[in-house]
Amino acid sequence: MDKNVRICIVGGGPAGLSAGMYLEKKGYENYTILERLDRVGGKCWSPTYNGRRYEMGAIMGVPSYYAVHDVEEFCGITHDGPQLNRNYKSKNGKVIEPFNPKKNILKIPRLLKMKKQVKKLGELLETKYKGYDLNGHRGVAEGRYEGFSQANAKREPVKGENPNLKDLCLPFNEFCKLNGVELIQDIWIGPFTSFGYGYFDEIPAAYVLKYLDFQTCMNFVKINLWTWKNGTQYIWEQLNDHLKHPARLNSKIEKVERRDGKVFVTVNGAVEEYDKIIVTAPLYIPNKRTDGQVGMVDYFDAREDEKELFSKIDYERYDVLAVETRPEDHPEISYYVFENMTPETMGHLMVYYRRWKDTKDQVITTYALRKHQKSKEIPYEECKKTVLEDLKIMKNPASNVVNEWSVYYFPHVFSKDYAAGWYDKVEAMQDKYDTLYAGEIMSFGDMDETAEYSRELIERFF
Ligand SMILES: Cc1cc2nc3c(=O)[nH]c(=O)nc-3n(C[C@H](O)[C@H](O)[C@H](O)COP(=O)(O)OP(=O)(O)OC[C@H]3O[C@@H](n4cnc5c(N)ncnc54)[C@H](O)[C@@H]3O)c2cc1C
Repeated sequence: MDKNVRICIVGGGPAGLSAGMYLEKKGYENYTILERLDRVGGKCWSPTYNGRRYEMGAIMGVPSYYAVHDVEEFCGITHDGPQLNRNYKSKNGKVIEPFNPKKNILKIPRLLKMKKQVKKLGELLETKYKGYDLNGHRGVAEGRYEGFSQANAKREPVKGENPNLKDLCLPFNEFCKLNGVELIQDIWIGPFTSFGYGYFDEIPAAYVLKYLDFQTCMNFVKINLWTWKNGTQYIWEQLNDHLKHPARLNSKIEKVERRDGKVFVTVNGAVEEYDKIIVTAPLYIPNKRTDGQVGMVDYFDAREDEKELFSKIDYERYDVLAVETRPEDHPEISYYVFENMTPETMGHLMVYYRRWKDTKDQVITTYALRKHQKSKEIPYEECKKTVLEDLKIMKNPASNVVNEWSVYYFPHVFSKDYAAGWYDKVEAMQDKYDTLYAGEIMSFGDMDETAEYSRELIERFF
């Protein structure tokens, strides 16, 4: 492609900014990043409180975050944040150790069985499900894999047939049942449901296992994790500062029209002309949101196939509160509440995070889900009230809420549409209308998968 091609990138989150970086690395410098907010980072949002940054959005990474590492190298920064740690509580606020056999004598047979099943899953993923852990979803529904290996930082292209991969279209609980590894869900649920990615009876196994591939899940178990002292937003602020063309903030895109091989973007009242557009912002939002975010289909001259496919996308209603406590009520450590990670206990506190060990004058953050595929959404205020009540039950009551966020989180499709080849249809549409689709929906809702998808997209189309 002509190196002077004019490229518009919608969104200044990890996907959009890393698209800019990978374009530059390939010699494409004629790009513009449009960001609707007055800051970059998207769901990596790290505000300041008492002189330190806390996390309203993304918190951590793992050593296999190769794309994030590319960004760190590009900017000369590293993961220098506080060590993560955690403990567990029952929904009644009692500290428990669910995985310690000595504390759960009666559960020893179950724990032993679980250990065996973890090993079995590890073997199955290497053999029966070879090719499961590539970034993105190309070919999965057709029993193929195609993409770049995530086995090491080289990320070499790989391709192959594996009909077993079709099992990944099943909801994760059914996938586990099919393979006789139901108990592993007790481990995978921690970094999945409590991190806002939905429930195992509704989310296709492909999402669960591409994010929590065996190695990544073990890194969570062993707490072999990365954090950033100035917050995850700092990674993207740094990247923005190092790009030849930093994102244009407060860009309100009113209209996008694609005709005669050109893309006309009306932004803040003026029309700009481009050759290609990369969309990393939401493609579709099924409900009206109070933050004013809308899907691409609402401001683009969306074609029938775009409208039809993107209307299948749903997302998680994930709520984050940042609260102050009195020093004597501050939690010792971060806590997971497994009993609150079920559809029946939806709307309750699933996890709360104490980021700084050395001080009690910082906020803690709480996390709750309030929508399941088969049930009605719990209203925001009701969920907030429940979470604040739960903090009292945990004996870490909040004295004040200092920040709150109801996030457009983890866009995904459900098993029926996944199995019907949703991803291959969208992949076939890439570049059809001089438009490339990237961001969370195309891979998974974490910093690295989205940045990695941008890397691959640039590799494939530029
Ligand atoms: C509470 C929480 C915890 C998380 N924890 C982790 C974690 O520990 N580790 C991890 O790796 N990830 C985590 N994530 C997920 C991670 O933050 C996201 O997956 C990642 O930020 C996605 O990047 P993105 O660029 O695709 O989308 P986003 O980050 O959502 O960025 C999209 C950008 O597009 C902008 N935009 C939207 N509409 C328009 C428009 N019309 N015009 C212009 N711009 C627009 C938005 O303002 C935003 O800046 C977490 C997220 C949240 C909310």
